Amino acid sequence: MLSESEGYDLLKGYGVPVPSYRIVMTPHDAADAAETIGFPVVMKIISPQIVHKSDAGGVVVGVGSREAAVAAFEKIITGAKKYNNDAEITGVIVEQQAEPGLELIIGGKTDPAFGKVITFGMGGTLVELMKDITLRIMPLDEGTIRQMIQEIDGYPLIKGYRGMKPKDEEALVSTLMSVNRFFLESENVAEFDINPLRLYENGALAVDARVIVSDKPVHEVKEERPPVPMEYFNPRSIAVVGASQDSNKMGYAVMHNLLHFPGQLYPVNNKRSEIQGLKAYPSISAIQAPVDLAVITVPAIHVPRVIEECGTKGVPMVIIITAGFKEMGEHGKALEDRIVSIARSHGVRIIGPNCLGMIIPPRGIDTTYVHQSPRPGNIAFISQSGAIINTVVDMSLAKNIGFSAVISVGNQADLDFLDYIRFVGKDEKTKAIILYIEQITDGKAFMEVAAEVAKCKPIIAIKSGSSTRGQAAASSHTGSLSGSYEVYMEAFRNAGIIAVHTLTGAFLAAQMLAHRKRYPKGKRAVVITNAGGFAVLSSDYAERYGIEMVDLPSEVIDELNEFLPEFWNKGNPIDLLGDASEKRFEKTFAVLARHPELWDMAFIVGFPNLVLTSEQLARQILKFSASTENRLVATLLGGDSMNVGREMLKEHDIPSFDELDYTYRVVGRVLWQKFRVKAPGLL
Ligand code: ADP
Ligand code: MG
Repeated sequence: MLSESEGYDLLKGYGVPVPSYRIVMTPHDAADAAETIGFPVVMKIISPQIVHKSDAGGVVVGVGSREAAVAAFEKIITGAKKYNNDAEITGVIVEQQAEPGLELIIGGKTDPAFGKVITFGMGGTLVELMKDITLRIMPLDEGTIRQMIQEIDGYPLIKGYRGMKPKDEEALVSTLMSVNRFFLESENVAEFDINPLRLYENGALAVDARVIVSDKPVHEVKEERPPVPMEYFNPRSIAVVGASQDSNKMGYAVMHNLLHFPGQLYPVNNKRSEIQGLKAYPSISAIQAPVDLAVITVPAIHVPRVIEECGTKGVPMVIIITAGFKEMGEHGKALEDRIVSIARSHGVRIIGPNCLGMIIPPRGIDTTYVHQSPRPGNIAFISQSGAIINTVVDMSLAKNIGFSAVISVGNQADLDFLDYIRFVGKDEKTKAIILYIEQITDGKAFMEVAAEVAKCKPIIAIKSGSSTRGQAAASSHTGSLSGSYEVYMEAFRNAGIIAVHTLTGAFLAAQMLAHRKRYPKGKRAVVITNAGGFAVLSSDYAERYGIEMVDLPSEVIDELNEFLPEFWNKGNPIDLLGDASEKRFEKTFAVLARHPELWDMAFIVGFPNLVLTSEQLARQILKFSASTENRLVATLLGGDSMNVGREMLKEHDIPSFDELDYTYRVVGRVLWQKFRVKAPGLL
């Protein structure tokens, strides 16, 4: 940790306003320095071991005379000794006392995954209590800096609140720009904070500076690896090394799930000549024909030999299901490094180890040991947890959700999230991508690839480890440290990834965005329903989740008046009343379709009754959807009586949620990503 004065000098060099100061070693010098600077002054302890000076009684403000300076000096030294007798005291800093002002904090830290980030928010001693902080991954431009300032809850205090004069926002912008440049250019600075930065009606002043330097490289960047050709994910022949006849073994389950594979399947087992009805081979090299993919389930200790053999045979890619590598500590890490280097020397690519491999339902590939293979569909799911894959696949069967791909990344010794995201990004069957992430090693590269793919396909992510305990669990689980949750959230938003925190939420968002029209073009909504109660709830939920209900202009009301019952509510939500027939919905939809510029999305909320079947309602929704480029979101509430309608909509990729709150929550989350709406609901 640099001393406060060293911090001031560094910052000053970049144009950050700091107080004038002197460093003194004796009470007498303190009095002289105070006089030179001009009373009153602030005096503080300088010690590399004392990080929070106030806690050590190491800050005296309002020193107004020579005598007071002498007394303050004694008090600071005694206080510091009492606080930590071993602390090395290198002096006392005497500095110009700043006028009271709005106390802000500007900080920086180095995230293990994403590199340097800058934080900004309400500062002072209550910073941990208020937690009014925003952050961005570097580098920042001026627009981003302005956005950060306006985004904190305390912004009204800067802009001027209730008769208070506005503070100097421009001085704040320029200070943040200077700090940004300082952090960017100071390679050895790993962390810093300026708390407080005092902001005035005119100008600003940093009255504390804590800078931590490090000579270690601050974050690891994974070496570049060649891209993985798409056809590697479309093998024509698969060998299972360690295939088994014993139903208690992994090699049995993997073989079993691959029996539907339409290409060539070769069990490899040196003890049997037949496995699950197929001719078995004693080794990979004994197979005469080419092998496009080898799935390895033998114990870790045999894996290097198998990879060597695959290399010699010219197998381009292997999936290592076997565990017992990096996740097991030093010894396992060494074994993992060995298989990577063997594979590399032969140009063999690796999925895993310690993974389930992949399921590509449209191609009949399933190298996992899930209970039952999932159905083909348009969602790709890439997960760092095998158990979550098993769970999600099982759930998907009951909920009639299908997949274009399910991939278990394991230890990511070679192929990692980036390769899989690239693959499903290009894969024609995939319409939406869900990620379950524990940690990422090269955050910057991840953001680049994800941002590229997210331009044409929605990416939804669950990131675990938001709790302090969760972070500890994740690091022991994967053998490397997680970056902090907030940095991930910011990275996701930057890359266009929608962050959710439940599996249900992830699938709801994916189903909504898998539609051709994807995102609503804005946040203005109309609601059409035949249920008065749900009309009111719709307004409540819309407001809660940042969705804007538009006012209908009088010409639209007039058009609706022509066929709606006299006493309809004449507003948005449009309540068509409980006796609304199919015809009434049809005519209303036609009016809205004629005015697409008034709204960005339409929520249609139906409930079970005898006047209107779910089939009739779904038919009109589909017709409406075909007649407009705006997004429709349906909610057919109720029990099984609505299933016919729900299925009709689903066939056309229009999801129908079965809880109204969820409808608005999902849309709110999606809008949060696109338009940075404030306080979206958790999903
Ligand atoms: P700490 O190590 O405890 O963060 P600081 O240097 O931030 O110590 O001092 C504690 C508080 O004293 C600051 O939050 C600020 O309110 C006040 N203070 C410190 N330096 C000055 C100064 N030069 N002028 C006015 N007030 C100051
Ligand atoms: Mg401070």
